[in-house]
Parts: sequence; C-alpha cells; structure tokens
Amino acid sequence: MTQRVVIIGGGAAGPKTAAKLRRENPDMIIEMYTDENHVSYSACGLPYYIENIIPDIEELLVRSPEEFERHGIKVFLEHKAIKIDKEKQTVIFEKHPYPEQIEVFYDILVIATGARPYLPDIENLHDFKNIYTLRKLEDGIAIKNAMKKAKTATIIGLGYIGIELLEAFIKNGLEVSVINNHKFIMPMFDEDISKQIEKHILEKDGDKIKIYNNQHAVKITGENEIASKIITDKGNEIETDFIIISTGIVPNSEIAKEAGLKTGVKGSIWVNSHFATSYPKIYAVGDCCEKTHIVTKKHCWLPLGSTANKEGRCAAINIASGNCDFQGVLGAAVSRYFDYTVCMTGITEREAKALGYDVLTTTVTKEDRAGYMPEAATITLKMIVDSKSREILGIQGIGNGDAEKRVATVSMAIMNGVKIDEFMGLDLPYAPPFSTAIDPLLNALQKIEEKLKENT
Ligand SMILES: Cc1cc2nc3c(=O)[nH]c(=O)nc-3n(C[C@H](O)[C@H](O)[C@H](O)COP(=O)(O)OP(=O)(O)OC[C@H]3O[C@@H](n4cnc5c(N)ncnc54)[C@H](O)[C@@H]3O)c2cc1C
Repeated sequence: MTQRVVIIGGGAAGPKTAAKLRRENPDMIIEMYTDENHVSYSACGLPYYIENIIPDIEELLVRSPEEFERHGIKVFLEHKAIKIDKEKQTVIFEKHPYPEQIEVFYDILVIATGARPYLPDIENLHDFKNIYTLRKLEDGIAIKNAMKKAKTATIIGLGYIGIELLEAFIKNGLEVSVINNHKFIMPMFDEDISKQIEKHILEKDGDKIKIYNNQHAVKITGENEIASKIITDKGNEIETDFIIISTGIVPNSEIAKEAGLKTGVKGSIWVNSHFATSYPKIYAVGDCCEKTHIVTKKHCWLPLGSTANKEGRCAAINIASGNCDFQGVLGAAVSRYFDYTVCMTGITEREAKALGYDVLTTTVTKEDRAGYMPEAATITLKMIVDSKSREILGIQGIGNGDAEKRVATVSMAIMNGVKIDEFMGLDLPYAPPFSTAIDPLLNALQKIEEKLKENT
C-alpha cells in the first residue's frame, strides 16, 4: 500500500525532507503542513532584506507551494498541528478559519516545527506594538517598516541575529542602544575574541552605538501601546523608538513532548543519528531536535539553517529505506558587521576547559593574503586544541579579511579527526591575491606546535 508521509513545518528542514523524499521515492504520498501562509523561505536573508540589500521580500522565497505541488507534494498552509496521537498515528490540525479542526492519518510523521524566539521576563513586554522579534517573513516586514520611521532603536541581546540587525540599523542611519546581559557581546565566542568584536564595532560606529553590557532590561514604559523607554537593572533608562528582542530561541517541541516523545537538551526532541525519535514511525529534523556534537560526542542543541537542511535530506533518505547516518554538528557559523567577519567552529576555550580538556590555545593576527596586495586585510584566528590527544577542538576567526575559509578548513579537519601533526602539512592553495605563502591557519598551527614542545 502507498505510504503517507506527513511533515509538520514548512521552514527549511520540512521542505528539504519533502523534496529529497520525492526524489528518493516517486510513489509515497507526501503532505507538508505549516501554520504560516507560505513555505520554504530563507529566514537567514531577513536581516539583509531589512537592511535593504534585498529590496523585495519575495526574493527570500525558495520554493512556492505550487512548485511543491508540481512534484506531487501537497502543501497545506495555515494548518497548525495541535496534537499528535502516536497510537492512532494521527495529527490534529487547527486550520484556517480557526478553530476548524481536521485529523490526518500518517504512516510516517516528520516533525520539523523549528524554534521560536525566547522572550525574557521584562515588565510590560507584551503591552506594546513596537517590540519585535525576528523569525518569520512578517517579522522582517514589520521591523523594516519600524526602522524606516525611526531615529533610534534598542537591541536586547547581541548574538548572530542582533549583530546583523545592528548593521542594518546603522546602515539606515539609526542610533542604536544594545542591552546585553553577558559581560561581553556575541557570547558564543570566547571573551577575548568578543572584546575584539566589540572594540571593532565601537571604533567604527561608536558615535551611533551605545552598548550596555552586563545588565538586564527589567522594565519597558511608554504610552498608547508604543514603547519609548527601557530600564535596566543597573538603573539605566534608554529612550528608544522601537525595540528588538534577540535573546535566543527555544525549540517548538511541545506537541512532541505532550505526545510522550523523549526530549533532551533545552527541551529539544531527542533523535538518533537517523533522525528517528523515541517512538516508531516518527522522525524529527531541524531546529526542533537535538544534535550530537562531533567534538564532545555529547548531545547538544545548536540550531542552524545549514544543519536543518542536511538533517532534512538525511531523514528523507532513511524514510525511503536508505541509510543515512548523520555525523553530528560542530556549530560552524559565520556572520558579519559590515566588512568585518565573525565566525567559529567547534568548541570554545571556555567550553573546553569546562569539559576537562587539556586546553592549549593560540591566537594569531595576520594579513589574509600577500601584504603587498591592495585588498589584503587583517584576520585574527584563535585555535583551541587538546594538548594530550593533539586533537583540534575549535577555532574562532574575526577580521576584515577572509577568516571564514580558514574556519571552514578547520571544520573539515575536525570532522575527519585530523590531528595537529597531520594538519601541519596541509596543502593549501596559494597565490598573492588569495593567501600568504604560509597561510595564517598554518601560522596558528606552528605556534601551537611550539607551545606543545615547550610544555613537554
Ligand atoms: C534572522 C535569522 C537569520 C538567520 N541566519 C542564519 C544563518 O546565517 N545561518 C544559519 O545557518 N542559520 C541561520 N538562521 C537559522 C535558520 O533560519 C534556522 O536554523 C532554520 O530556519 C531552521 O529550519 P527549521 O525548518 O528547523 O525551522 P523553521 O525554519 O523555523 O521552520 C519551522 C516551521 O514550522 C512551523 N510550525 C511550527 N510549529 C508548527 C505547528 N504546530 N504546526 C504547523 N507548523 C508549525 C513554523 O511556523 C515554521 O514555518 C537564521 C534565523 C533567523 C531567524
């Protein structure tokens, strides 16, 4: 009998699962349900739409429902899954016009419900119309409209989304306040690297940006549903035309949990390396599910678009009776503030120490290509290794030059278990416009080797 695969979620992982499954198996009935009124779009492009590098939001739409339908994938917009009955193998959806409900039978269920912004506990947070989070297309449109009318903005939490919005707002002439409850911005990096990122941002645009580190926003005030002031626990009062909350995300795992599926780190859905959940015939992919860290071998939750797409592809192969064993993640990520790149892969020095590794680090600052080339620019690379096993644990890269390709190379090395000694001989391409005769990455490794020799 023809199998019916029901996918909940139409962001990145859901559509990727559907498309790959169709290629793997032309016969299965594939249905994709989403609570939004569009599917398959690039949330990652939203900051650049707001900045106006991409003027038309339609450009962020990867594939339309009609394109999926043409490949025999049925798309159900504005259908919100509210309950999974795993014994009956059904999902109950609330559909437009709400609260109409339908019950849908599945042979195989794929949960790809993603994540949503985490909302911190701030007095009056829900009382105003000009407080935004960024996750969906509508959020991007609303923020862009607010930005166009505003002179000032406040960003609460400065991680990857925060830094991309900071660029958008500065580029569009706003003055921006940043409230950050960590000692430093971009807290996924080590403190020494974060401090350099902050220094760069303030050196470039310090006349337009004020960063309030190490403090919490505790109260928002305003009138007629328009917020105009934020008060922090250190007593700072910040006037603002609108507010962005970018303090992280939480997995949309509630329906899975309520159905009795096992959950793990931060409440994300537990899956094995084939993306099977703890219950037969139910898979989970993307930001809603747990990951395994390639360095630590521990379960973790590192929700990223790059990962979500690969997971969807891998789950589809398994659903179609193939064999895809997912290696895990490193949290490889990149972002930027104008022409200044910030990127990393693997674990930080802070994490490595907490996990008990014999941590050795080195930081090099070099030109990213031959210094006599006009486009040469500086990069700083911080490598983290385990001195006992000589394993590479992670790298962080920042600067106006090309740090990203060095970090990508280290991702590849870690994934393949390449140790420091083997890495030293790495044959990297060189010509003056692209690199230096000894690449900055190899400089970092040489320094590590010197330190290792000193320690023995
Ligand atoms: C502004 C921004 C910038 C980003 N930049 C990057 C980047 O540069 N690089 C990177 O790797 N990642 C980036 N990300 C992260 C990336 O977008 C996500 O990791 C990716 O979208 C996750 O895909 P997903 O399919 O798991 O979840 P989502 O894309 O969130 O899709 C989940 C879908 O499920 C729907 N849904 C949820 N619950 C239900 C329900 N009960 N019933 C029906 N439908 C439901 C949601 O509405 C949504 O449409 C960015 C994210 C944002 C917001």
